[in-house]
Amino acid sequence: MKVIIDPDSGFCFGVIKAVETAEQTLKSGEQLYGLGEMVHNEAELERLENLGLKTISIEQFSELKGATVLLRAHGEPPSTYRKALENSIRLIDATCPIVKRLQEEIKKVWQREKDQGVQLIIFGKASHAEAIGLNGQIDNKGIIIENLDDLRLVDPQRPAHLFSQTTMDAVKFEKIALKLQEMYSETSQDLIIHKSFCRQVSNRTKSIQEFAASVDVLFFAAGRNSSNGKVLFQTAKNINERTFFISGIQDIDFQKVGIDWGKIETIGISGATSTPPWLMHEIAQFIENTFGLT
Ligand code: SF4
Repeated sequence: MKVIIDPDSGFCFGVIKAVETAEQTLKSGEQLYGLGEMVHNEAELERLENLGLKTISIEQFSELKGATVLLRAHGEPPSTYRKALENSIRLIDATCPIVKRLQEEIKKVWQREKDQGVQLIIFGKASHAEAIGLNGQIDNKGIIIENLDDLRLVDPQRPAHLFSQTTMDAVKFEKIALKLQEMYSETSQDLIIHKSFCRQVSNRTKSIQEFAASVDVLFFAAGRNSSNGKVLFQTAKNINERTFFISGIQDIDFQKVGIDWGKIETIGISGATSTPPWLMHEIAQFIENTFGLT
């Protein structure tokens, strides 16, 4: 039996930058607050908290004065920056450059076209920090849609732009874009599609499909709140039925999954863009120790 870690899995560069920024700042010994989960991975968050990072909610942030606060890769709405100014908070901004660019683009479109009754549609999760940050750029007037049904909120008699939260599934985005094009083909209004999902995520769809197909069993490690984790896990599961979602070694129960391990030749380990490489190595080590492979 062999244990293989998916070479294309683990932190994307936006998360690497945010985590490195947190580690660097914490080295100075200064109290550092993180607004929201720095990374949607419980194990990595715990590691950062052990280094001194204190995760706070937006409500706790509003009460702070004169502190140092790190903004995560997902980005924030303008109201967060205004509040920081009001309360003399020093912000360390680790917003991913890809998210930053998208925020600027959506804001530009809104300022240019809001007086023409434009609708800005964001394919994303309404409660996700990135979607909140994007919507904040456009006075919270975006139409956030999570599925095809939500397209009933769009009026095809008015012009529209479609954007995507960067971590959404590219295939679902295409389906939504197609449906919108159908709706708009019956009107003379403009519809502009912006393929704003992140390539760091969409490129992983193909690579995880290949990886899932190449192993007998796959343990997919991600935080329960990772939206990208849910998408990639499902993608892998569609290819390889013996794919299991875990957040760490505590979730691995070799008996429970009903597999004849004696017949298994390869066990794969993969993860989301928020899964730390050290966690995947820990899982590999645990499996190797369990089966006496080391
Ligand atoms: S998934 Fe893409 S956009 Fe999101 S933080 Fe990572 S690199 Fe940036």
